[in-house]
Amino acid sequence: MNEQKNAIKSYNPVTDEILGEVPITRREEVENTVKKAQKSFIQWSKLSFKERAEFMIKIKKVMLKRKEEILDILVKEIGKPKMEALGEFYLCLEKLNYYAKNSEKVLRDEKVNLGIAFRGVKSKIVFEPIGVIGIIIPWNFPLVICFSSMVPALMAGNTVILKPSEYTPFCILKIKEIIKEAGLTDGVVGVLTGDGSTGKRLVESDIDRIIFTGSVATGKKVMQSAAHKLHPIVLELGGKDPAIVCSDTDLDLASNNIIWAAFLNAGQVCASAERIYVMEDIVEEFIKKVVEKTEKLKVGNGLEPSTDIGPLINRFQLDVVLKHIEDAKSKGARILTGGKQLKELGELFYAPTVLTDVNHNMLIMREETFGPVLPIMKVKSEVEAIKLANDSDFGLAATVWTKDFAKGQKIAKQINAGNVWINTFEVEAPTVPWGGVKNSGIGRISSRYGMLNFVNIKCVTLDYSHKTKQDWWYPYSKQKLDYFNEIISNFYSDKITDKIKAVITLLKGCSK
Ligand code: NDP
Repeated sequence: MNEQKNAIKSYNPVTDEILGEVPITRREEVENTVKKAQKSFIQWSKLSFKERAEFMIKIKKVMLKRKEEILDILVKEIGKPKMEALGEFYLCLEKLNYYAKNSEKVLRDEKVNLGIAFRGVKSKIVFEPIGVIGIIIPWNFPLVICFSSMVPALMAGNTVILKPSEYTPFCILKIKEIIKEAGLTDGVVGVLTGDGSTGKRLVESDIDRIIFTGSVATGKKVMQSAAHKLHPIVLELGGKDPAIVCSDTDLDLASNNIIWAAFLNAGQVCASAERIYVMEDIVEEFIKKVVEKTEKLKVGNGLEPSTDIGPLINRFQLDVVLKHIEDAKSKGARILTGGKQLKELGELFYAPTVLTDVNHNMLIMREETFGPVLPIMKVKSEVEAIKLANDSDFGLAATVWTKDFAKGQKIAKQINAGNVWINTFEVEAPTVPWGGVKNSGIGRISSRYGMLNFVNIKCVTLDYSHKTKQDWWYPYSKQKLDYFNEIISNFYSDKITDKIKAVITLLKGCSK
């Protein structure tokens, strides 16, 4: 654990070098930051979409200018290969562009039809900012997870407070510097460094909404803390994503993509392919290709451009991997490649590992491993594969591999998850909603659906009819009851003549 009493040290997981130290923000400072954000909200929420979009475009420009600094800290704090840091950087730019261009359209007032009874009355739905949004961020994709919520929250007119993971504070502090250079104040985007206690304080503060991304265990704590003040929350939690490889799959495509799906960011991806179900007639050939390709992957320091896989982030993650591998081995799993630490590279390096003869009694097929492991299970049929894919506490994403697109979509329909990719993996764009079912979370971020997290959906209704009284107001009478009974029976009848009768009666009105 890298925590001191009042400060936290951030380490490079490749070299164990200390990258710096940040304070653990205490309760009083958390409350001051929230107050500052509430004050800034008054001004920021009054800006037009165009004015807010101009800030997003400025942030994009500063990011492009300072790209190398951003990539450098992503690689140093997480250990991910530079190519993956660049992918994360690209996704942030996409979010800035998308929300700058589309927020006004997504949050445009909507007119709604009120039905025949409310003639002369009009309603519109308006989308108003809600206040201060707390965004709690994990360490594995700090920038993209930050931007997925920060950008739409700001564009909707809210101010935000970011709480980075204790393992990656400098990634988010770099973003703070960039945002400041783009002209936004600390009140519009605040950052609270610290550990879990800081996150808890933020959830317990006078924040208006929390967007939490992290583990199931912490998600449950966040939900509990949020309950005290009934803070609305979105939870984006862990996964144990299945991949179903059908007999008619292009095995080159499937093996190329599945090793990427399993080992990207050293397997520390919420949507990693963590369980691979392969039809028995192709399993041997699939395994051969996967093992061959895995053995060619280069493990090392992410600053070296040809590195494919970096280390695990910390000792805790390494221990989970070691425990899952030992458990699988003790229950009969066979390691086909990897299965060991690469201490010659550093304490936190683990070889990309392919194993088979696995089953659902093993931790490696049930709990999130979050490491560079690829367990392959042989199945007899697609029906069996779907059953096993759904036999999980998680439901974040899944992949299906087949040349038959209709079949792929039929399987996708039967998988209990928030996202299913057919013949591909991790297609992420700001137009696509993201989130899971079961223990993988509550709610959606990204796209127009995610944008609704950041607004109060208000309905404003205005009666233009100038009527002094509606027929269903006081006083009630037997005659009035008969009048409305007749209208309801006729209006909801199957016969068009009855419907016309109901409309005529309604237009005439009730005399008493
Ligand atoms: P954690 O749950 O450990 O931490 C997530 C964040 O919550 C960190 O900023 C952490 O701070 C903070 N935190 C810790 N305790 C509390 C608390 N009591 N109240 C409020 N905040 C708290 O997750 P990891 O950082 O280890 O991230 C890995 C997990 O995140 C995996 O399970 C992964 O699947 C999931 N994840 C899900 C994604 C999704 O989109 N569904 C995307 C990415 C990751 P600190 O680190 O300082 O303790």
